[in-house]
Amino acid sequence: MAHFIGAHTVDNGGIHMAAKRAANAGMRALQIFTAIPKYYNDKVSIRGERVVRFRETLATTDIPLDHVVVHAAYVLNTATPDEAKWIRARDGLAKELERSTTLGVGAVCFHPGAATDDNREASAERIAAAIVHALEQVEGGTRLLVENTAGAGRTMGRTPEEVGAILRHIPAKLRSRTGYGLDTCHLFASGFDLRKGPADVSALLDAFEEATGEPPGFFHFNDSEGALASNKDRHMLIGEGLIGVDPFGWLLADARSQDVPIILETPQLNYDIADDDDSPDEYDVRMMTLLQGFAGGK
Ligand SMILES: [Zn+2]
Ligand SMILES: [Zn+2]
Repeated sequence: MAHFIGAHTVDNGGIHMAAKRAANAGMRALQIFTAIPKYYNDKVSIRGERVVRFRETLATTDIPLDHVVVHAAYVLNTATPDEAKWIRARDGLAKELERSTTLGVGAVCFHPGAATDDNREASAERIAAAIVHALEQVEGGTRLLVENTAGAGRTMGRTPEEVGAILRHIPAKLRSRTGYGLDTCHLFASGFDLRKGPADVSALLDAFEEATGEPPGFFHFNDSEGALASNKDRHMLIGEGLIGVDPFGWLLADARSQDVPIILETPQLNYDIADDDDSPDEYDVRMMTLLQGFAGGK
């Protein structure tokens, strides 16, 4: 059993350079985009040479392919009651899964979107239908995971019950290919106070496990600029936001953080790094030192 800590590193020069930068920060997990995340990319495939270069680079690191997470485009609102928008989001999600399966990564994570008609049960069904469509279109071992949200507007997936309501609509034969993951900033912003103590943090993981039938498939480790229950999705370096350092140690002490990707989506110091520069980001190095300082935090 071990911790697999990584980051969504800058991909200037390509996703294989993102992998090198993470590895050079001492990381054992990674998050990437496979296409520009502000577009639907519902017709975008991934080129073979890009796949080969990424996989060959990853093989030279301590990052296993199944501990790489692809973050889906932000614009995919699979909860929308608007039929045309839903079809595009559904097709975009299937393409995300196709590109990620071609790469061979462990999982795709996505934000389930917003119930703009305020019918949250119908929205949960629409999200599930988009997941089912993607899993039926694309066979393979890459899992499609719902990410909990910060709760702004009418976004779905802010509580254990809502994540559970989405996954409940997945047929049993597809269920093992989907699941969920937890972002600490989103938890805090949607009203879960992670600062109360290790027992409270573990009880929150229990609540998600009870509502969904399984532990999280990944974690996003982000501190929060926004206050508790502010619904504000603004990430900060761990220790520089309102969550503080200790809750991350408590999460690392819970067995459910072992063997799944733990991804930092915290700020990078150098977003303009040269395409051929594989040196690690100084902020990532700082975050790794901090997290490895916890007992068992390696
Ligand atoms: Zn996210
Ligand atoms: Zn976020």
